[in-house]
Amino acid sequence: MSTHVDQKSTLLSHDNNILYDTVIGLEIHAQLKTNTKLFSGDILAFASEPNTAISPIVLGYPGTLPQLNKATIELALKIGLGCHATIPSVSYFERKHYFYPDLPKGYQITQNKYPIIQGGWIDIKTPTGLKKIELDHIHLEEDAGKAIHDLDPQHSYIDFNRAGAPLLEMVTKPCLSSELEVANFISAYQKLLRWLSVSDADLEKGMLRCDVNISVKRTTTEQLGTRVELKNLNSIRNIKKAISVERQRMIDILKQGGVIEQETRGFDAQKDMTFSLREKELAHDYCYFPEPDIPPVQITNAWVEQVAKQLPTLPEQRQLYYTHTLLLTDYQAELLCDNQSIGNYFEIAIQYTKHHQPLANWMIGPIKEWLNQHKIDSFEECPVAPHILANLINLEESKKITHDVAIKHILPLLLNSTAESPTQIAERLNLFQENNEEELEQWVRDVLATMPDKVAEFKKGKLGLIGLFVGAVKKKSNGKADPQKIVQIVEQVLSSTK
Ligand code: ADP
Ligand code: MG
Repeated sequence: MSTHVDQKSTLLSHDNNILYDTVIGLEIHAQLKTNTKLFSGDILAFASEPNTAISPIVLGYPGTLPQLNKATIELALKIGLGCHATIPSVSYFERKHYFYPDLPKGYQITQNKYPIIQGGWIDIKTPTGLKKIELDHIHLEEDAGKAIHDLDPQHSYIDFNRAGAPLLEMVTKPCLSSELEVANFISAYQKLLRWLSVSDADLEKGMLRCDVNISVKRTTTEQLGTRVELKNLNSIRNIKKAISVERQRMIDILKQGGVIEQETRGFDAQKDMTFSLREKELAHDYCYFPEPDIPPVQITNAWVEQVAKQLPTLPEQRQLYYTHTLLLTDYQAELLCDNQSIGNYFEIAIQYTKHHQPLANWMIGPIKEWLNQHKIDSFEECPVAPHILANLINLEESKKITHDVAIKHILPLLLNSTAESPTQIAERLNLFQENNEEELEQWVRDVLATMPDKVAEFKKGKLGLIGLFVGAVKKKSNGKADPQKIVQIVEQVLSSTK
């Protein structure tokens, strides 16, 4: 069992005998993978011609009535279950008022006091073991449109295709304590969102947007420091850099006896510094109130159970099964649980072979390498079907073919989508392992006869030459001879000849 460590925040800075901890809480928006928007039937089509995937509802025309998209609720329930969270029987939507040109209604419909998902946690890897990152809640809200300022020097443009798109906002407790933990948390959450088909969760494409709340405090106190919110960070790399730069800025202020202002800051990756976006004093009063046009969301136990039944085995459960029951290494199990497609491939293949270790190695080794080279992301598109790979592995493990033959002669044909099975290929090309000792010995003698000088050198003590002899015999056998056996026979023949 992996152990949960009770980790206090990591020690970060040491100056004048004062030690500081970094405290981080995340707010992560994920774009939900639905066909239509949160409160209207507009198709989600961000990339199409601007202002074509819109309707009077998302533009906030008077007299229009939003209607909640049921699919978004089910996706929220899935992620809630995946994060071991509580699902309250009632949640509701509120209006959050602010003015911005990309928000034509003058308010955003979001959840505030009663979010759809409460609590929960996600385990992340740390150098000292697993750490539970607690979630505050997860709520649903609509996205805004997109203001575009760089197309024209005189004008700004607005594209409302994104307006009303469904977002899931997840808020963690302030319990992360380093760049590494943040990076691992985002990856773990991203993986879960993809695993459950809740979101494609691509950071670079803005499908996942992460705001980082950060503060520092003396290690000797429990009291949290004033936080700064870092916004508009669009890669893990920038998130890590921004945290490290901001932490140092805060510690420098404290060292000089200054006070940290609560504010929102951006990160300039070129200058490697954060800069103020807006201060707390200027923060809006959003005047939240319950959205009168959308009734409270009622979630019955039966509904939750129905969603739970459709939930696939979670990556963490699958990983545990691989390490504990199938005895794979942590490394193998982790790679096999990286996404559903590789895991599902493995699940099918193990119905056809009991050689789980070699299967894992073949998959995360040569097969994955080939897929990467051909820019194929998913094992679903692997030209070698799982039962075919299992057949190949069974041939090798039962010593009917050598590893050399499997990888150099049979695999390339399989990857080329041949209709033949590995057994058929081995038969046709006469690739079955040569275990006839007399024949092997003859090959060894033939090979040694072609290099008398080397044999003489070997006998004078240049023992490393054995590799050369073995290699030459392997070549002569076309990879069909068991390498261990070749070594054995080469040694025998050499010691028996003067
Ligand atoms: P608000 O309601 O003002 O947005 P929240 O309490 O919801 O504030 O917190 C927002 C985010 O900030 C959460 O992820 C939370 O974990 C984080 N957070 C709150 N206080 C701190 C702090 N002192 N240091 C770092 N992060 C914090
Ligand atoms: Mg908040």
